[in-house]
Amino acid sequence: MPHFIFHRRGRRRVARMAAWSLIALLAACARTPLPPATLQWLCMGTTAAVSAPHGEEARLQRIRAAAGETFAEIERDLSVFRPASTLAAINAAAGSGIPVPLGAHAAAAIALARDAAAAGGGAFNPTVGPLMALWGFRGATRTQPPDEAEIAAARGRVDWRAIRLDTLPDGTSAASLACTDMALDLGGIAKGYAVDCAFDRLRATQETDFLINLGGNIRACGTPGAGRDGWRIGVRDPFRRDGLLGTVTLADGEAVATSGNYERFVELAGTRYAHIIDPRSGRPVRGMAGVTVLAPTAAAADALSTTLFVLGAEEGRRLLERTPGCHALWVTDETPPRLIPSPGFAARFAPEQIRK
Ligand code: ADP
Ligand code: MG
Repeated sequence: MPHFIFHRRGRRRVARMAAWSLIALLAACARTPLPPATLQWLCMGTTAAVSAPHGEEARLQRIRAAAGETFAEIERDLSVFRPASTLAAINAAAGSGIPVPLGAHAAAAIALARDAAAAGGGAFNPTVGPLMALWGFRGATRTQPPDEAEIAAARGRVDWRAIRLDTLPDGTSAASLACTDMALDLGGIAKGYAVDCAFDRLRATQETDFLINLGGNIRACGTPGAGRDGWRIGVRDPFRRDGLLGTVTLADGEAVATSGNYERFVELAGTRYAHIIDPRSGRPVRGMAGVTVLAPTAAAADALSTTLFVLGAEEGRRLLERTPGCHALWVTDETPPRLIPSPGFAARFAPEQIRK
């Protein structure tokens, strides 16, 4: 199921895997002989998928159409890679003092990102743009890691408190960044936010029993079929391409997300660097292979998986204790890897029941 898109640029390699960090659809278990049906497509730089119980293909097509429309709308607004996006406009206007008018998606996603930054004490930082660029995640042709002075200079332009969100007289919002060369990057929350928007839209039209997956940001509605338990989701083994560590079953409305070091990384001077940056050090996080988070919404699971990847298990557990309804599993990047579940995750996790 995983797809590899492999780019080679000189000595640097950017590998990108539209990974199923979480492999959905494990409902094909003994009690459910006919597995749910799934439709997949490419979107927001990753694989999107929707699923519904077996035999409901017409309904699945409707779900696919609604989710596809929602994702495309949000990508147009929030992608850092699209020059015409609202995010690109905010970044281009950084330091000018001119607020950029926001549509509903940009306003909501930026507000959620700021809340996530505050909740995680800055471990989640939607202004990591300059550090992402510095480390070669935004298309630069770098072959060596940056030096201390470069890192310090980029860190000086990373400050989530310098995001200004204003409400205009007509009730709409506008955003601006306080200093030149700052850059918003919502890569750590946009996919989760998009999944929630699709979920809400489908629920508003009375759809039930479906699963939405955008690059491993998953939210479940109902069950994979009448009389069955909830949607069972496989947690991918970061070290075995098609292997699973175990499964979790989602409650109605619940979400799960994974942040991993194996999905997107750059290779500089022979060392791999994951695409999640610790804003405190200005360096990509080392030592963590993956973090999977259960949460009440997909945006929360997405932001929290990035946050807990940065914080690690010890500091991360203290944050989880203050975050109701959220549970996490850390997988360290060592041989053999250590699996560190929070108590709530351990209670829900069925280890290695299914292997692919
Ligand atoms: P994925 O995009 O593979 O689902 P994540 O949800 O963990 O993985 O998000 C990683 C993305 O978030 C990066 O590609 C980058 O755009 C952004 N990012 C990197 N470091 C941070 C951070 N400390 N805080 C917030 N966003 C970050
Ligand atoms: Mg995330």
